Amino acid sequence: MWYMAAYAWAVIGAGPAGIAAVGRLLDRGIAAAKIAWIDPAFAAGDLGQKWRAVSSNTIAETFLNFLNGSAAFRFSEAPPLPLHDVDPNDTCALDLVADPLVWITAQLRERVDAFQTTATALFLGNRRWRIETDRQEVVSENVILAVGAVPKKLAYPGLDEIPVEVALDPDRLAERSLDGATVAVFGSSHSSMIVLPNLLRHPVKRVINFYQSPLKYAVYLDDWILFDDTGLKGRAAAWARENIDGVYPERLERCWVSSPEFDELLAQCDRAVYTVGFERRKLPETPQWGVLDYNRRNGILAPGLFGLGIAFPEYAEDPYGFGQYRVGLKKFMDYLDAVLPLWLLYRT
Ligand SMILES: Cc1cc2nc3c(=O)[nH]c(=O)nc-3n(C[C@H](O)[C@H](O)[C@H](O)COP(=O)(O)OP(=O)(O)OC[C@H]3O[C@@H](n4cnc5c(N)ncnc54)[C@H](O)[C@@H]3O)c2cc1C
Repeated sequence: MWYMAAYAWAVIGAGPAGIAAVGRLLDRGIAAAKIAWIDPAFAAGDLGQKWRAVSSNTIAETFLNFLNGSAAFRFSEAPPLPLHDVDPNDTCALDLVADPLVWITAQLRERVDAFQTTATALFLGNRRWRIETDRQEVVSENVILAVGAVPKKLAYPGLDEIPVEVALDPDRLAERSLDGATVAVFGSSHSSMIVLPNLLRHPVKRVINFYQSPLKYAVYLDDWILFDDTGLKGRAAAWARENIDGVYPERLERCWVSSPEFDELLAQCDRAVYTVGFERRKLPETPQWGVLDYNRRNGILAPGLFGLGIAFPEYAEDPYGFGQYRVGLKKFMDYLDAVLPLWLLYRT
């Protein structure tokens, strides 16, 4: 069934990137009644649902810049929030950011047309996108996909996996029986450097960290940050300097994945945590073309179809020519400011 009224813009996903997109469209004067917003939960995405207990890699000031960065967020009207009490130069638990995001979501939802469902397929015809969802069809001239990403996994057989969202959350980890366990932790990311001390707080027998390369640390320079997206920051960096590039704590071992000991050490493990990065969530089907990819400099997937957020991060080079994918709330907003004028022209 085709609905007569087409939206000008549909935003699929209500995580931080979807919130930024709806905010900026309103800021640009797109009428609220012309914006459709689709998400099964409207609960601030994975940050609000999976990562609340995780220590941030961004300082509080950067979060506040994001929250105050869109007039449509009306964040100045929000009730007093614990984020305001944090030292602006300090990192914080993501919880403190999730709550303001949930507050912003609630009041954006009152203005735009929100559909609490999952988009399953996208079709382009009649110069419109027809979005199939679990419940109804939504028709829009333009679509922003902000569907997020899921942790990547490796598939070593015989190891009982502890999901990253459990290993990153001390309360959920405490519910697991880890007595005498030997846990393999793969990766040397921000998440790895939070998971390792979390595990060592339990009566595990050993933790073996399997790594590929040296650690990278972010360095704060006057007007940019070296290794901003790939380097360790905040508490994770402090712990890593002391314990990984310093003195290993008791019960922690490390093993280079290409070393001759790899197989033998892996065979001694009974659990595994994979902190090896993220991959784009499965997109709604696009049967006209198969799986679509995006332009990593401007987010274009197809006419009137654009990608934003951790699923479609901007790729950019730093002043030394080092390329990295830009992931973070404020970065999504800044990127949107750069590409939205283009998206407004790249019509169906
Ligand atoms: C452990 C961890 C720590 C991080 N720390 C920070 C930090 O300190 N600072 C920072 O700025 N960033 C941080 N990030 C990075 C990033 O900001 C978050 O990952 C952010 O949640 C990504 O936002 P998103 O909107 O792109 O995706 P998500 O938060 O994953 O949101 C995507 C939304 O889309 C919905 N969706 C998916 N498919 C569909 C569909 N077909 N139809 C409808 N809805 C759909 C999902 O249900 C979800 O609600 C961190 C990330 C991780 C994993």
